[in-house]
Amino acid sequence: MSENWFAKGLRFTCTQCGDCCSGKPGFVWVNDDEIDALAMQLQLPVAEVRAMHTFQTHRGRSIRERANGDCIYYEAGKGCTVYQVRPRQCRSWPFWESNLESSAAWERTVAICPGAGTGELISENEIVARMRSIKL
Ligand code: SF4
Ligand code: SF4
Repeated sequence: MSENWFAKGLRFTCTQCGDCCSGKPGFVWVNDDEIDALAMQLQLPVAEVRAMHTFQTHRGRSIRERANGDCIYYEAGKGCTVYQVRPRQCRSWPFWESNLESSAAWERTVAICPGAGTGELISENEIVARMRSIKL
């Protein structure tokens, strides 16, 4: 029997509000494969995407933001302009380990993400798969 507190699954359907792509500064981690995929989707040289769209931090590479904190791939009214190839960090939200530590952590996530806690019921197995994908 599962020991996860979310064994019965959790609900999530993104409302496309854009809150997690805009506003206050943050990091969106990208690896080499994800940069390659972005370059292919944008039909730009990999080196250009790496240099112009990402930057190095002490923990790894992150997608650049505009001065207002919005992800450079976010367009108001349109959402993510690279949705098909968005990084694992974006794909796996809100099922991050930190958000799933406890039901209280999940409730804090629900409070900041209008799509969390509502909509499609995501199974425990799928939640775990999404949570682990960010570590691959
Ligand atoms: S905050 Fe939640 S509902 Fe809004 S865009 Fe992000 S994932 Fe979707
Ligand atoms: S890559 Fe797309 S989904 Fe991820 S933060 Fe940027 S705009 Fe949002």
